[in-house]
Amino acid sequence: MQILDVRNQLAKHPSKQYSKRPLEAIKYLVIHHSATSAGDAFSFARYHVNNRDWPGIGYHYVILENGIIQWTNELTTVSNHVRGYNSQSIGICLVGDFTNGNLKIPQKEALKELCQNLLTRLNLNADIIKGHNELSSGSTVCPALDMDVLREYITNNEIEVFINGNKLNISAFLKDGVTYVPIRPLGETLGYQVTWDGQNNRVYLERDDTLELIKQERDHYISLINKIKNILSGV
Ligand SMILES: [Zn+2]
Repeated sequence: MQILDVRNQLAKHPSKQYSKRPLEAIKYLVIHHSATSAGDAFSFARYHVNNRDWPGIGYHYVILENGIIQWTNELTTVSNHVRGYNSQSIGICLVGDFTNGNLKIPQKEALKELCQNLLTRLNLNADIIKGHNELSSGSTVCPALDMDVLREYITNNEIEVFINGNKLNISAFLKDGVTYVPIRPLGETLGYQVTWDGQNNRVYLERDDTLELIKQERDHYISLINKIKNILSGV
């Protein structure tokens, strides 16, 4: 997860200021799309300050198409992004217009990591992740995403592992950008003998490719010798 702290580089209103809240007040993570094909925290901040006359950018995070997360407001800042729920929510904006486009994969992965991170930090469950439209009683389609599918994607940490197209019957998971796969079933499927040395905290994977090769060669010679024998005996 790549987070760039741009909080102090964004356009701010010359006199207005957002109010503050304790972290315990946060009850929702609200997902938005920017409804634009481009832009970033800098352009959204300028728009919110200059055109909407807000104290600063409305979102707490902006996630670019390439998965980079721009951190735009302190979590304790009550900013404008969802009418009626600002004091109890964090606003996460995905750059893009999903009424006629799709969430990009790096963006989706970054959203998943960010949400998981925030849920852990705030000790909240995934059902408090809401689309802007779910809290606005139909006044917007934002973020124009299937929120049930998105919530399932964010909470599901299971990763499927395939070897040459065959799915392995093992459970892997992603944590802090690292995929964890149990080594014994993976190693054994790849033909390794897996041994665990608990005394030294070591895992050994051994595969005797040489022996396998000698065996094949020997079989090859045996069939060659048989062929020669057959030729010599005139068969
Ligand atoms: Zn929105």
